[in-house]
Amino acid sequence: MKRSVKANAASTPPMSRARSTAWMTLLCGMVLTCLPISQAASRPNIVFVFSDDHAVQAIGAYGSKVNRTPHIDRLAHEGALYVNSFCANSICGPSRACILTGKHSHLNGFLRNGDRFDGTQTTFPKILSQSGYHTAMIGKWHLGTDPTGFDYWEILPGQGSYYNPDFIQMDGTRKRYQGYCTDQITDLAIEWMDKQKDSDKPFLLMCQHKAPHRNWSPHPRHFGKYPMGSIPEPESLFDDYAGRSSLLKENEMTLKDHFHWGHDSKFHGDNLYTQHFGPLGNGEYRRMNPEQKAAWDAYYEPENQSFLHQMKEGSLSEKEITQWKYQRYMHDYLGSVQAVDDSVGRILDYLDQNQLSENTIVIYSSDQGFYLGEHGWYDKRWMFEESLKMPFLVRWPGKIQPGTRSEALIQNIDYGPTFLDIAGASIPEEMQGRSLKPLFENGGGKTSDWRDAIYYAYYENAAVHAVPIHDGIRTQNHKLMYFPRNGEWNLFDLKNDPHEMQSLHQDQTYQPVLTALKQRYQDIKTFYDANSAVIPQTRGDEPWWRQRDQAKNNLLKEGNIDLAFIGDSITQGWEGSGKAIWEQYYGNRKPINLGFGGDRTEHVIWRLNKGAWNRIQPKIAVVMIGTNNTGHKMQAPAETAQGVERILSILEERAPDTKVLLLGVFPRGRSLHDRGRVINQGINQIIRRFADGKRVHYLDLGDHFLNPNGECPEDIMPDALHLNEQGYRIWAEAMEPKLKELGL
Ligand code: CA
Repeated sequence: MKRSVKANAASTPPMSRARSTAWMTLLCGMVLTCLPISQAASRPNIVFVFSDDHAVQAIGAYGSKVNRTPHIDRLAHEGALYVNSFCANSICGPSRACILTGKHSHLNGFLRNGDRFDGTQTTFPKILSQSGYHTAMIGKWHLGTDPTGFDYWEILPGQGSYYNPDFIQMDGTRKRYQGYCTDQITDLAIEWMDKQKDSDKPFLLMCQHKAPHRNWSPHPRHFGKYPMGSIPEPESLFDDYAGRSSLLKENEMTLKDHFHWGHDSKFHGDNLYTQHFGPLGNGEYRRMNPEQKAAWDAYYEPENQSFLHQMKEGSLSEKEITQWKYQRYMHDYLGSVQAVDDSVGRILDYLDQNQLSENTIVIYSSDQGFYLGEHGWYDKRWMFEESLKMPFLVRWPGKIQPGTRSEALIQNIDYGPTFLDIAGASIPEEMQGRSLKPLFENGGGKTSDWRDAIYYAYYENAAVHAVPIHDGIRTQNHKLMYFPRNGEWNLFDLKNDPHEMQSLHQDQTYQPVLTALKQRYQDIKTFYDANSAVIPQTRGDEPWWRQRDQAKNNLLKEGNIDLAFIGDSITQGWEGSGKAIWEQYYGNRKPINLGFGGDRTEHVIWRLNKGAWNRIQPKIAVVMIGTNNTGHKMQAPAETAQGVERILSILEERAPDTKVLLLGVFPRGRSLHDRGRVINQGINQIIRRFADGKRVHYLDLGDHFLNPNGECPEDIMPDALHLNEQGYRIWAEAMEPKLKELGL
């Protein structure tokens, strides 16, 4: 019956998407059973082979200089290769969430690894399942919650393991398979397809590998496939990070300084050279059975001992040690890739042998790219080409011209809409990506209305590898990156500087390009509804901020708080020039100061979400935030106000009995017509309306600080932004009646 729903939707005349959805709902489960089966049966199967961290530089069809992937390349020869294929957020879980939902991270809610995917939201597998597809998800899932939208799933716990992997079953139990993960996933995928092949329903198979994710542990059949010493080095292996964002130098993902002893380098025992190797041991080796260990050691130990002998002799320079690490890294990474290529070969063979190839669309992709020594790195995250790019190869016999090569800008948010379109299902309005089917049908190339730029955003700083939050756009020839922590822009001319070694944002001749791209960046963020003021952001990569956050959280955990001040440096200043006044007014009222200098609304949102608010229920929370959204970015008042609104709703959820005293953002700038002042006034005109007189109360103290000319006087606000002791006295006196009125 579900099959018929889909077929009918495909045969309906063009209509608006909203009407089409209503139409489908109306028809659901009734009229459609009378549709001819043949129509449904013609819908193609979808086989989505997806790996983890497989960079395009390690795929033959993309011009690899380091390895060969004959089976993956088959897809390019028999179908299409997309050379400008990008992720929306270069990290494992978020990329998967973008694919499932067809939305950018800030709307699907999975911003960083460790988040939990909300499986109740709309995803393409759910719609395909409802429209008559058998659906299966096998392999790496990594989204924290159980898969939804699949008739069948069997997934790795978290990152999974290469050797003797465990799989979570649909009943929640775990099953351990002896053998190699990539091969096991392929076995399960083929077994599942074999059960579907005689069904009259089409199928969606998501075959998702752990490989070649760290810690890159190849199958013995690929030991020595790319021997150490034979692999060409990238030009930027010894990048000094000059000429680009100053934050680049802070990274912790270099082969030189962040490559671990057991985990990455595959040594046993104690770390003998702690100045060259990180401490992590090789957990994968510990999983192996005696035969596997014997095979492993037979390959690795002679090379390890040879290296250690040279180290003991002191015959290796710093540079040579890094070069050795690169060779070890690439041997292991490329060996892990090779099993993925084998997997693709087995799946294509299975389709051929079972006469399924003609009516099956096969896609190969990976959750994001990876650095294969470029910029001295392993790992991903940064918006440079190597990790921004995703492989995308697709074969669709009879539809896609063999050997097609496309330069259209495509992104992982497009996959869901594409699969729905291929299946004849309607694409929900809420999905932000676009179907690639029109490109497939247009020789792979762009249609005239295709996008001119993709948007990228990375949110996971403070975790591992010290990569700051950043976002940006990538057009056909240029890339613009923005680093909110220090307000830096980077601009790259990808034609003239494909390795992105020199930002041109300060180059006079590029000012017109910079201006145009900044405009496009703002517009695309608006288009994708990406208001930074409401997207939770940590500043955990700044040690003082991380330590203060931890200390304040410890106080929250202790509980016993009646009065919480939440804000930025102006609030934090109660611990500085306002200290004596604070003691006088609040010292014995069980207060806590949650002001963090430099915070914007998005940081407060992060702190409130992550903080131990389950332990406290203050009588009053005094909230003042937003002046840094103005000062750092001149953000539009409506956007900042949305951030304030989000803060109020988090407080409502986490501390429902707490009364909120929302303060108008204090005036800034000496003059009445200072741009920042004007923007803050705009914020206040919006947020005052958030008061309901019951839980949320609004107070604007601005006039108390100003002189009769409307200026911020130096004897109260020395820098026209922060208060001195006199300023804090004025604040406390002016606010006191309201605190009493609210019952403090
Ligand atoms: Ca990944």
